[in-house]
Amino acid sequence: MTTDLQTDPLTAVVARATELYEDVELQSVRDWKARGEGRKAIGFLPIYVPREVIHAAGALPVGIMGGGDQLEIVRGDSYFQSYICHLPRSVIEMAVSGRLDALDGFLFPSICDVIRNLSGMFQMLKGQKYVHYLDLPQNFDPELGGRFYRHELRTVADAIGRITGTAVNDERLRRSIRTYNVNRAAIRELLALRIEQPWLVPTTEYYVMLRAGYLLPPDEHTSLLHEYLEHARSSNRRPLDNIRVLVRGAFCEQPPLALLRTIERAGCYVVDDDFVLGSRFIPDAIDETGDPWEALSQAFLKHSLPTASKYDEANNAADLLVQRVRDVRADGVLLMAPSFCDPALLDQPMLAGALDKADIPFTSFKYSEDTGQFQVIREQAGTFADAIKLWGKA
Ligand code: SF4
Repeated sequence: MTTDLQTDPLTAVVARATELYEDVELQSVRDWKARGEGRKAIGFLPIYVPREVIHAAGALPVGIMGGGDQLEIVRGDSYFQSYICHLPRSVIEMAVSGRLDALDGFLFPSICDVIRNLSGMFQMLKGQKYVHYLDLPQNFDPELGGRFYRHELRTVADAIGRITGTAVNDERLRRSIRTYNVNRAAIRELLALRIEQPWLVPTTEYYVMLRAGYLLPPDEHTSLLHEYLEHARSSNRRPLDNIRVLVRGAFCEQPPLALLRTIERAGCYVVDDDFVLGSRFIPDAIDETGDPWEALSQAFLKHSLPTASKYDEANNAADLLVQRVRDVRADGVLLMAPSFCDPALLDQPMLAGALDKADIPFTSFKYSEDTGQFQVIREQAGTFADAIKLWGKA
């Protein structure tokens, strides 16, 4: 059959990434494991885990981002009270329905109480597998938080090394840092292209390209990004009369793809965001030459992005947001947060206050990963875009 996919390489690369985005059965992970004897995969929850350590132990790091709007929750609801976000329900649904069976272990980074409780549930549900609550430092002094984190990194490396049979030594870890540095560089290219020519990188395409990195081995993801960049740059897409917006608050439970499409169709080019934040939580290259444990620790302490689940007194998240708006030349900000997400919603008044003070237009709304009705958001985002176009302010 001759299809557009065979004739249009850009469509083909986006279709490949979309297929991965829709892979809630983790079939791609099963296929990867089947291609080599004894292969292991380790799942991780949002936002950030040091994937280099998993990779250095020879395992595939796999991001668990919930079921989005593709999964009917049958049993997940019975594990939780009503008034919490949606992500843990769909993660439990994936676990009890066998969708996560391809994973040989699970890391739960310390981002909020919901994730902490979820790790406890996994210890009961998946006790025969490796389940670890990864305590990320909240103290940014290298002698305190740094020492603690290096110890935590080695604990994780030892545990995963026992699963794979491959001990993580300094050289292996340096090589993995190098592999992810190449991937980071490709992601930076994607971000830069979108800032400069957002009409070449529609938000839904950008999003599935990032998400692909949560299932593919890093070098395959890097190749996919390079392919996408090449075809996106040479496409004949033309700019629309859209405003430029920056999105904050979507760092954990992810918005459905249709919501991202709605925002763009309402007249907004998203030029910066915190979607799939773990894929670029440390945006720049990590040192590949010295002590790799120290390098990973320093990168987290000194060079990771601001987010609501990290309290870094020395780097005020509100000031950094205002600076970022200016750096990416955004006309306004969408504060969009998952319903009942305490970290995102508790941060919002501080961010809104800083935007107000800096005279930067913003609007806010809530979503959940399975939101199906977008009319209200379309009208809100459309009005926001129109107001900025007409008067320069929302
Ligand atoms: S969406 Fe918010 S509250 Fe829910 S697990 Fe993520 S950070 Fe926690």
